[in-house]
Amino acid sequence: MFLERSLVEGKKRGSVEVIAGSMFSGKTEELIRRLRRAKYANQKVEIFKPMMEKRYSEKAVVSHDARSISSTPVETAANILLMVSDVDVVGIDEAQFFDNGLIEVCNKLADNGVRVIVAGLDMDYLGVPFGPVPSLMAIAECVTKVHAICMQCGNLASYSHRITQDDRRVLLGEKDAYQPLCRECYNKLQYNEEKKDNPKGSDR
Ligand code: ZN
Repeated sequence: MFLERSLVEGKKRGSVEVIAGSMFSGKTEELIRRLRRAKYANQKVEIFKPMMEKRYSEKAVVSHDARSISSTPVETAANILLMVSDVDVVGIDEAQFFDNGLIEVCNKLADNGVRVIVAGLDMDYLGVPFGPVPSLMAIAECVTKVHAICMQCGNLASYSHRITQDDRRVLLGEKDAYQPLCRECYNKLQYNEEKKDNPKGSDR
């Protein structure tokens, strides 16, 4: 269970928190919730996200109230260290798209007293652990798995099933291309799709 630490402490203590889950599981909402509460406590907060395309390179404002948090797109994880200055809390969104350098970056920040909160997809659409997220879950003090709702049966969902025919690992800005599913429904669909591709059931 995630228990928020007291925000007002005499001594700055760094740590890494990971919020992981499938598409539509509310990872970013949970990240923003924690960051906003740190802001209410007058802590200096910054958000970084991977720069996926040049057209997304502008700074985006994440929340719509007066205490909005600006998020800075960066090309590599190492750039986060270069851009962070005098900050209490660092939020990192879409961590799965960063390089593995992100693990060392998070450790360095936490070693220097920064509270690091990372949100990302734990698995890709094939159910394979995604980018630096599994390693980040290992080095974190605290891991929160959030869940979506299975679109087939209403159970908690951990899988991001892709409903379009496309085998690129990354589909940008295409939320419509995914459906959250539980393990059982995900496996059932995979099985049916395999049968469709291989109707005679010949061994492979
Ligand atoms: Zn289900």
